[in-house]
This record gives sequence, structure tokens and C-alpha cells, in this order.
Amino acid sequence: MPASLRAAAIAARGFMPTDEGDALWDAALEAAAAVPGSPLLEVGSYCGKSSVWLGGAARAAGTILFALDHHRGSEENQAGWDHHEPDLVDDEIGRMDTLPIFRRTVYDAGLEGSVVALVGDSPTVGAHWTTPLALLFIDGGHGHDPAHRDYELWTPHVAPGGTLCIHDVFPDPADGGRPPYEIYLRALDDGFVDRRAVGSLRVLTRT
Ligand code: SAH
Ligand code: MG
Repeated sequence: MPASLRAAAIAARGFMPTDEGDALWDAALEAAAAVPGSPLLEVGSYCGKSSVWLGGAARAAGTILFALDHHRGSEENQAGWDHHEPDLVDDEIGRMDTLPIFRRTVYDAGLEGSVVALVGDSPTVGAHWTTPLALLFIDGGHGHDPAHRDYELWTPHVAPGGTLCIHDVFPDPADGGRPPYEIYLRALDDGFVDRRAVGSLRVLTRT
């Protein structure tokens, strides 16, 4: 990975640890090689940190990343919850808005040509999606219903030979919430093959 791009990813605001981001980069390059010509898609971009690793890999592989987020934050990002960052609230409307920071992150990384923002609600977009994906990264709402809905709506679009990445998978309940782990188990049950685990990131492929 080019050092300047990696520096931009590390500098970006967000929740992606560096070793896990580096693993996303590797997974994306492998996925793009396995399913040439197909795009990558992430559910949950927030301020664009994971988008730099994935979008950079998309550019290196000659494809693009669709970065899907309504930019209003997940339940766990709202006021009073663990992952709330008060400066991300648009005070005039009293709602979160991570889109301006996301845009700036993508711009600073020089990736505007390779990262396409899909600004909207995941189930709404997913209901109309038809394009096979080389790689799907699930890091959207982490509650039971949002996580399972994202799993159900988006994993059918992973192309044969394509890759599914899931973030915040914690086998031990003491480490974090259950739903990402539950959908990881569903993926194994549905025939996805475990390829790599780095921190809470799981990389699987559809054989
Ligand atoms: N991948 C990011 C972190 C994502 S945080 C990083 O590397 O930093 C989870 C994101 O999911 C939030 O930005 C939130 O707005 C988004 N999200 C939650 N539910 C959503 C939904 N139903 N539709 C679209 N985006 C959603
Ligand atoms: Mg995450």
C-alpha cells in the first residue's frame, strides 16, 4: 500500500484500527483479482476511515468502492451512547451529519475518483441493488435488527469467489455486542469460508 495513502487512512477519523484496515486492503486486492470488474461496497462509512483502505485498494485494482451510509449515525453513535461524538451533530437540526467529514477524508486521500458515496438508508438502497460485488464490508448498525437485515439484504450480492468482511465480531460477549458475531456465524452456516481474522475483523469468501 502506498505510504501516503496509508498515512491518510491512519490520520482519518473513525473506528478502524490500523492492523484491521491493512487487512481490509489485502482482502480488497485479493477480492478484486478474484472477481475482476466488479465493485466493492461497504455498509457503514461514518467519517470515511475504512473507505480509505478499501477505496485505495479499489483504485489500485481498477475498480470502485460504493460507500453506503445515511450519515445520521447508528443507535450507538447517538447522544448518551458509548460511541457518540458531540461535534458530529448538526446543531441546527439536532441530528448527526458525518457526510462533510466523509467527503473531506476521501478528498484528502485523493480518492474522489474511486469512492462513490451512496447516501441513504441501507435497506432502502439494498432493496434496489442488483450489481454483483467483489467484496462486501458490513460495518453499519450493530443492533440486532440492523445487523441481521444488512446480512440478509447484502450478502446475496457477493459474487461467486467474492469476499465478505464483517467488522466488530466478538466471540466473547465481554468484548462487545453480539449481532456482528451472530451474522458471522450465519455466514459460516450459509457456506462462506473463513479466510482471516484480524482483531474484530473477519474475512470470508464465497466459494
Ligand atoms: N466503517 C467506519 C465506521 C462505521 S460506524 C469506520 O471505519 O470508521 C457505523 C455507520 O453505519 C454509521 O456512520 C451509521 O450512520 C451507519 N449506519 C447505521 N445504520 C445505517 C443504515 N440503516 N443505513 C445506512 N447507514 C447506516
Ligand atoms: Mg466497526
